[in-house]
Amino acid sequence: MERLQKVIAQSGAASRRKAEQLIAAGRVKLNGQTVTVLGTKVSASDEITIDGIPIDKEELVYFLLYKPTGVISSVKDDRNRTTVVDFFKQVPQRLFPVGRLDYDTSGAILLTNDGTLANKLMHPSFEIDKTYIARVSPVPTAEQLRLLVSGVLLEDGMTAKAKVQMVTSDREKGSASVRLTIHEGRNRQVRRMFSALDITVKKLKRERYGFLSLDGLHPGDGRPLKPHEIKTLY
Ligand code: URA
Repeated sequence: MERLQKVIAQSGAASRRKAEQLIAAGRVKLNGQTVTVLGTKVSASDEITIDGIPIDKEELVYFLLYKPTGVISSVKDDRNRTTVVDFFKQVPQRLFPVGRLDYDTSGAILLTNDGTLANKLMHPSFEIDKTYIARVSPVPTAEQLRLLVSGVLLEDGMTAKAKVQMVTSDREKGSASVRLTIHEGRNRQVRRMFSALDITVKKLKRERYGFLSLDGLHPGDGRPLKPHEIKTLY
């Protein structure tokens, strides 16, 4: 359920402010009844008209972006930095990212205008697997890798079980690549998990978001999800 003025704004019929004025002026009907109460909750099946004309319901769209580093995972940035939404200027719908990747993390991130799916995917109980590849220094010991698997203590509590795999390690250079799959989504979680073990993450990329991989994409590329992919996420 969404607020009436938000649904009108999303349809492109009016800005949110204008929608509020239209509602207050008694020009909006919900399933044939005039509504003047701002914030009335409406669902996708409700018919909304303005001056008797039905609004277009915004089509729900879904994209996977290979976010480059140096990009903000939000809709707007007060410092005018590039955001993940800037890669979809040709898309008329108002997109927002599902969750976040740090400014200095690259990789797979979903964008949509489907608030219901976004809320579901971001809910901790949904436990969607996220796989990261981290370039770290120094090379983790076998014991440290075991700790990453079983859980490390962060300021916001123990981390849940993770899958961990050493991909490459160079003892001379003192650096390694580690693949880590977690289903929690705490702020800067991967960096903080390594940091708790005195290991620094030099580079971080999210290779997979659930079953969605970066196959065929380069940094800055986005692609629409296929219908069967959307169905699987739901
Ligand atoms: N963990 C991090 O530390 N950073 C991210 O961007 C994602 C997960």
